[in-house]
Amino acid sequence: MQDVPLTTNWIFERGMRFFPTRAVVTRTATGLERATFADVGAQTRRIAAALDALGVSPDGRVATFAWNTARHLALYFAIPGSGRVMHTGNIRYFPEQLVYTFNHAEDEAVFVDRSLLPLFAKYLPQLRTLKHIVVMDDGAPAEIPDDPRVLDYTELVGAQQELDLTDRVDDEHRAAAICYTSGTTGNPKGVLYSHRSTWLHSNASLTSSAFSMNDRDRVLPVVPMFHANAWGLPYAAFLGGAALIMPGPDLSPAALLALMESEQVTVAAGVPTIWMGMVPMLAAHDLSHLRVVVCGGSAVPRSLSEAWRTTIGLPITQAWGMTEMSPLGTVCYLRDEVADADDETQASIRATQGIAPPGVDLRIVDPQTREELPWDDEHTGELEARGPWLARQYYRTDAPGEQFSPDGWLRTGDVAAISPLGYLRLVDRTKDLVKSGGEWISSVELENELMAHPLVAEAAVIALPHPKWGERPLACVVVRDGEQVSKEELLEFLRGRLSSWQVPDDVVFIDEVPKTSVGKFSKKTLRDRFADYTLPTG
Ligand code: ADP
Repeated sequence: MQDVPLTTNWIFERGMRFFPTRAVVTRTATGLERATFADVGAQTRRIAAALDALGVSPDGRVATFAWNTARHLALYFAIPGSGRVMHTGNIRYFPEQLVYTFNHAEDEAVFVDRSLLPLFAKYLPQLRTLKHIVVMDDGAPAEIPDDPRVLDYTELVGAQQELDLTDRVDDEHRAAAICYTSGTTGNPKGVLYSHRSTWLHSNASLTSSAFSMNDRDRVLPVVPMFHANAWGLPYAAFLGGAALIMPGPDLSPAALLALMESEQVTVAAGVPTIWMGMVPMLAAHDLSHLRVVVCGGSAVPRSLSEAWRTTIGLPITQAWGMTEMSPLGTVCYLRDEVADADDETQASIRATQGIAPPGVDLRIVDPQTREELPWDDEHTGELEARGPWLARQYYRTDAPGEQFSPDGWLRTGDVAAISPLGYLRLVDRTKDLVKSGGEWISSVELENELMAHPLVAEAAVIALPHPKWGERPLACVVVRDGEQVSKEELLEFLRGRLSSWQVPDDVVFIDEVPKTSVGKFSKKTLRDRFADYTLPTG
């Protein structure tokens, strides 16, 4: 068989050849900007020429620091397409994480949205490897730093001839992009995606084991383009010919809903907090074009998916993954065996993380013996995964490290059961489990039950030390706007749904659950905040 390299240029050329008229719509601070794949393609070829003209090394790292926009999309193709490695900078990182990742990747250039300059510019003195700072003017009046490295995007790119990228990358194992993932301790870790892994992962998104993305779709990546490459959606859209709707800086529920309605979005993807915020406003919008709402990054509470289903007739599609997995690991769709099951059964299935697509292998292992456990939906163990779009080790580390098993599987840090039909059910993160008197209590399950209470907006459960049981759960609860509920009422509600020893020892009411840089509940922040909190004993 022919050995044709699987590259992002292939994805790009396919989009250009088959779907040049497909739309790329960007909502900026000033309104909607409409472009086509052909427009983005022309920009891509000019950016590639600009990188050559600037003398960026043939395999140099080039960063982005930008919202989800058509320009960012062109960078997705131009940087890897010209042989360089795209580092999508996380605009929500703490200063030290931001500085660390840029220096660790040794970025030679960065393309930054003007509106993000107030955030970015103050770190410039510490970003020692950067030779070029290309400012993309998005209409924001932000001050341009007085730094000799600064260039204007339109001047730089506009002056170039279009460069043919077709055969520029001939080795599919070359690096295409790097994303950093922040663990709970230590510095963020770099995951280097290859051209091949990007191609295979994108192709999977087009299949019925994932999102069946196709040329009739209009896809809204709410997930930022720095979060595991917007879950691969930009590449999948070019490969499959789906239009892209880019939300820009305004990610408020009202703005997103208006965009979904007016642009007739069919596929939208984001973390649970995004879809939770929309629930009260759903009924007021015509979302009849929507066919898949992808939700991942954290567990999707059953009550959330059911709220969508009962309001607009479309439940949420849960997906599970990790930056280390490009990120797609599983997608929850209803297999034939359960396609006609009753609403209750189907809702329970949708609360699982779903089925691994071809390309991802999963196993659960006993934490002590490391022996593989059966797929009976009963045994829970540490989840491990392998496949051609999963990392083998982190960037610039000598050894694979403890997050990889001796036989090369990725140790996900998640604890899970798998059903005989292959549905993955995450019980918790290893570090978030509450270990009470020798038994594990799943914080995820407690959160799910709490969020099923009609007056609870958000809930996060953490483990606190306990003199008798080792650890016991504390529930941190956000009550819906303008509502009130007592601790006793909530505990009584849980008593009806859980075994008595699983019910949290205490409830604290907070204004908001703190979030991580990618919009997940930050249990670490909660743990720090309640480190000195004493649970009632007795
Ligand atoms: P970060 O480490 O930067 O938060 P990741 O997005 O790579 O970034 O985090 C991956 C982890 O997120 C997974 O190991 C898992 O614990 C959690 N996760 C992702 N999707 C889901 C889901 N559908 N349900 C529960 N947890 C999820």
